[in-house]
Amino acid sequence: TLPLVAIIGRPNVGKSTLFNRLVGKKLALVDDQPGVTRDRREGDARIGHFHFRVVDTAGLEESDADSLTGRMRAQTEAAVDDADAILFVMDARVGLTGSDKAFADLARRSGKPVIVLANKAEGNRGLEGSYEAFGLGLGDPVPVSAEHGEGMSGLLEALMLAL
Ligand code: GDP
Ligand code: MG
Repeated sequence: TLPLVAIIGRPNVGKSTLFNRLVGKKLALVDDQPGVTRDRREGDARIGHFHFRVVDTAGLEESDADSLTGRMRAQTEAAVDDADAILFVMDARVGLTGSDKAFADLARRSGKPVIVLANKAEGNRGLEGSYEAFGLGLGDPVPVSAEHGEGMSGLLEALMLAL
């Protein structure tokens, strides 16, 4: 079976954009189980010839939630529990927020391989935010642009090392 990779992070950092890019045209399965997995999206992902399963998180909370509370936390924990590796996404243009740190702590506590993605880094933007993310102690942040498809080879390299 394919390795399972969870995309986690606070709202608005670009998780779903990354999910859509990794899954591409393949249809994402929408899980209709009740409770914490209701808004979980999982699909077959590919970078180059490397195939894996990927799960997006926190789809329904994003309009109002700003901290790691309630269902968003439960859903993230469930995704992390199931995952073989974790993509922790932060917004390199904004830098690290308290909410980012809460998600990073959750990832760290899992003891699983964590890849820090400094997103929205197209055209070398967000360098300062990437340096901040380095301070999480979760390894070298990988600069990416989910929206523009930049940095995917760096993500591939990190995934192959993690899995
Ligand atoms: P989520 O809440 O973490 O799932 O974030 P979304 O994927 O919904 O993205 C939030 C916002 O960030 C949207 O307006 C996206 O278009 C934007 N966004 C996502 N990835 C990038 C990126 O690589 N660069 C830029 N500039 N914006 C991005
Ligand atoms: Mg989303």
